[in-house]
Amino acid sequence: MAGDIQSILISEKQIQQRVKELATQISEDYETLNPIIIGVLKGVLFFMSDLISHITIPIEVDFMSVSRYQAEARYKGVVRMVKDLDILVSDRHVIFVEDVIDTGLTCHYLLRLLHDRQPASLKVCAMFNKPQNRLIDIPIDYKGFDLPDRFVVGYGLDYRERYRNLPFIGLLKAEVLQRPA
Ligand code: 5GP
Repeated sequence: MAGDIQSILISEKQIQQRVKELATQISEDYETLNPIIIGVLKGVLFFMSDLISHITIPIEVDFMSVSRYQAEARYKGVVRMVKDLDILVSDRHVIFVEDVIDTGLTCHYLLRLLHDRQPASLKVCAMFNKPQNRLIDIPIDYKGFDLPDRFVVGYGLDYRERYRNLPFIGLLKAEVLQRPA
């Protein structure tokens, strides 16, 4: 699997250091607020797990799962809810956690949905951000790293459901991307 990687963009050490910093900041900002931390499956799994393990205040955790209808749907921001939240968010402080924000359409759709449920507050925490592709503005309150406009894998991010378990963010070799499915 590591042989399919062309280069490492962000190392495991850099990721782990930054996640700890984000967790410390969130622990300070939400000390008495008992926030709900909401992640979007499946890409967020590794980030969410590392982040919450370093948060030192009481929190609750929940997940949503979405999928896009078809390739073009990403440009319309239309996603299908596969799993909704178990916890009610009305009047609660919510931190919405994303793996990577690219066009911003998925995040925008889900933030609007959460906003309609009237949380006491709603903030965004994204481990990776691709600012060059943004179609819609998303205020990111807690950000890990900016990425170039390249397709990356690792730390939860997949290519055809593989490579999620790499502990770093890397680029795939061109020949891997060209292989038939
Ligand atoms: P957006 O709606 O912001 O364009 O899409 C965000 C979603 O696209 C992320 O949650 C992730 O699933 C996927 N995505 C965006 N960029 C990448 C990438 O470089 N690698 C992988 N594996 N997924 C990506």
